[in-house]
Amino acid sequence: MASVGAIAGVCDEISLAMIKLFHRSLPIFLGMIFVLPVALAAEGHDGLLTNSHGSAEFVDCSPRAWLGWRAIYTLTRRADANGAAGMMGSAPIAASLTWAQARVSVLLPQTYPERPTPTQPSVPGSAPRANAASRTEQFTLSNERYEKAVRYSRARYVLYFVSELLTIVVVILFLQLGIAAKFRDFAECVSDNKFLQGLVFVPLLIVSVDFFDLPVRAYAHSLSLRYEQSVQGWGSWLWDWSKEELLGAGLAFVLVLVLRVAMRRSPRRWWFVFWVLALPILLFTFFISPWFIDPLFNKFEPLAAKYPQLTAAMEKVLHRAGLDIPTDRMFLMEASKKTNSINAYVTGIGASKRVVVWDNTIQKLSTDETVFIFGHEIGHYVLGHNRNGFLFFAALLFVALYLSYRGLHWALDRWGKDWHIYSPDDWAAVAVLLLLLQVISFLAMPLVSSFSRIQEHAADVYGLELIHGIVPDSEEVAAHAFQVMGEFDLADPNPSPIITFWLYSHPPLAERLVFAHGYDPWAKGEQPKYVRRAGE
Ligand SMILES: [Zn+2]
Repeated sequence: MASVGAIAGVCDEISLAMIKLFHRSLPIFLGMIFVLPVALAAEGHDGLLTNSHGSAEFVDCSPRAWLGWRAIYTLTRRADANGAAGMMGSAPIAASLTWAQARVSVLLPQTYPERPTPTQPSVPGSAPRANAASRTEQFTLSNERYEKAVRYSRARYVLYFVSELLTIVVVILFLQLGIAAKFRDFAECVSDNKFLQGLVFVPLLIVSVDFFDLPVRAYAHSLSLRYEQSVQGWGSWLWDWSKEELLGAGLAFVLVLVLRVAMRRSPRRWWFVFWVLALPILLFTFFISPWFIDPLFNKFEPLAAKYPQLTAAMEKVLHRAGLDIPTDRMFLMEASKKTNSINAYVTGIGASKRVVVWDNTIQKLSTDETVFIFGHEIGHYVLGHNRNGFLFFAALLFVALYLSYRGLHWALDRWGKDWHIYSPDDWAAVAVLLLLLQVISFLAMPLVSSFSRIQEHAADVYGLELIHGIVPDSEEVAAHAFQVMGEFDLADPNPSPIITFWLYSHPPLAERLVFAHGYDPWAKGEQPKYVRRAGE
């Protein structure tokens, strides 16, 4: 490999061994990219891991979206249409985020499964739905649906981890094979102007790395088609991917420029300076995304225009709760062109803050059930979850940037020569940061998911309290809404605790259903937690 001649000193043996290892693993790696889909299918992992673009947050808001990454991620939106994707990022952050997120979201987050209920036979073939006709006490699926849900979910989990790992391996190969350095050389050949160099280098790096993940994402989309979660054609799907790449590369470019300014000004504190400068940019992205980014992927219209009756029902609920959310903050998203999933979410911040409901939700659920879904979203809105999510994201980013700063210097001291990267502000060092952020964001996933689950549970409680006393038999209505969502979205009937801990942005659906059905503080003479009506 190109770097052999440059290697000197005691690292020789280790370096040579690594190079040989990479050489040997390259065919395997390339093979994996193209053969993986077939291999997974052959093993019976089918299920889609994602509804591309529209996946589901399940009644939800964009868990990760509000996490603020959304900002970054907006590009990742396809994964969860609402913006659920996310981890942390930095300049490269952006880059990695956009991208790492994209896959995260894409691959996984979309559906939030449920777990088999205690009374439900835990083998495929649970209780016939007829039993639940009158009361929805447990999440139940027909045999066929149960098996599909399990296979589909498992395939998505596998793909999530494959995608994460693949990205890490690809970036390591880009460094080890000198590709990142070649990209830098190319950018420096094109112009002496730093701005133009960045304009060449950053998109080239981001799109190249993402290109290797494309087969995994395509496989995920094929699964979602097979499992009838997605109805989006391949052309439209690829166009969405292209738009995400463009947006992601654009945002990454801006952030990398800011990063370089921070590095020049403060070689030792750049991570902090960058954090201070990047947050407003990310916040701004988050702020404008409902107006300028989301419409690039889906069509939105005022809810009141198409469903005046539903809007009237919502106003009634809001009025009784003493809330003032203008109806022009409620939107309908035409999700049915791309997905069969049921979902809704809250996005934006400040003047752009809004509640969005997918048209599928209204078509597949009763009005009362839709009102409950709205109640959950309004919970996010009223409880300030977008704001909290962004603050949480900012804190994670702070830690991630500090670790990246330490990691970058450590890695360059160790492998800088092999990688032909000579200083932290070398363009090619962006690839190292990308690698570090990808690893950090992957490891932070459980933390992000846990934070999200707490907020999702709070929103469930809020929704239940909001509709109580207004919607007849409200607990049953909410439980049945979960039942219907789980059936349509092929929610995992029984996710393992580890998977839940790592990936679930929402509590497992079966748990949410059981909780909803049994939530009745009024009968016990207790005060509801969030929503008190006049006189209470
Ligand atoms: Zn939610």
